[in-house]
Amino acid sequence: MGLRNDRRGSILAFLSLCLNSHFKQLDSFQTSILLKTFMIAQNEASSFELFRESLSTTVIERLAPRSTTVKKRGVKGRKNEIKPVVQSVQKQEEEQRNDAEELSEFIEYLAEEIFLSLPLELRTLSYAAVQDDAALSERYDLPLDSSLVEQLVEHLPPSTTESLDTYGLTGDATSLDRFLERIIIAYVTLATAAPPEYTPSIEASRACGCEICARDHLPLTYHHLIPRAVHAKAVKRGWHRDWELNKVAWLCRACHSFVHKIATNEELAKELCSIDLLLAREDVVRWAAWVGRVRWKAR
Ligand SMILES: [Zn+2]
Ligand SMILES: [Zn+2]
Repeated sequence: MGLRNDRRGSILAFLSLCLNSHFKQLDSFQTSILLKTFMIAQNEASSFELFRESLSTTVIERLAPRSTTVKKRGVKGRKNEIKPVVQSVQKQEEEQRNDAEELSEFIEYLAEEIFLSLPLELRTLSYAAVQDDAALSERYDLPLDSSLVEQLVEHLPPSTTESLDTYGLTGDATSLDRFLERIIIAYVTLATAAPPEYTPSIEASRACGCEICARDHLPLTYHHLIPRAVHAKAVKRGWHRDWELNKVAWLCRACHSFVHKIATNEELAKELCSIDLLLAREDVVRWAAWVGRVRWKAR
């Protein structure tokens, strides 16, 4: 009797497990949204945003409604014909808004599923990472190796490939490769782009106002955050890498000379080599607040 009961218990447990997994399948879309939101690691959050951006560009291109303009009908008619037309325009707009919301949810879901299936080195790819690791840099050099793309496709969860198929984003196997390849290329390009402060072309990083006092009506000068006079020493002593030496900040003349007054070149290179570090000092903040009030009208 006891044995029978045990058996019944285990059968029931088995059945409820089946039901549960069935339920999960039905609801897998929503469940995965809930779960994955917590699965993107904190240190990968910014990479994930770049990835989602890359994915959404491709998905939006494919899934956007063919005609984005709302057709105007009945313009020629009498005044009393306008009302129903307006209503239908509103309805169309509402439908498009709903579509857009649904599409954003779908993009978020896809981005998370695919991002989490990528290898760690790709999820944490950055300008700094490829500067320091020649092998990594070569592996993700564009154009991408087709074997690399194939590998990434192989690691996609089956639920992702199904969703892609369902939404008509991919058909055969090669179109899945092309779909993912495009997204990865866009992502690698964004992730490994030099931040403005490292760009060799100093003009490209030009701020629109002084980065310390924020005054925007003055001619700006550029300040090497790692002063040139100590470049060689900074690399030799390991304070900075070669590729970091170009970092510049755009400062008004007053702030520029203030910065050089409060610290030696070595101190600037070691302890004050970013605007954030400079602005963490109380004397700099006080100075910025004061000099920021010194304004005159542009002529
Ligand atoms: Zn200034
Ligand atoms: Zn300077």
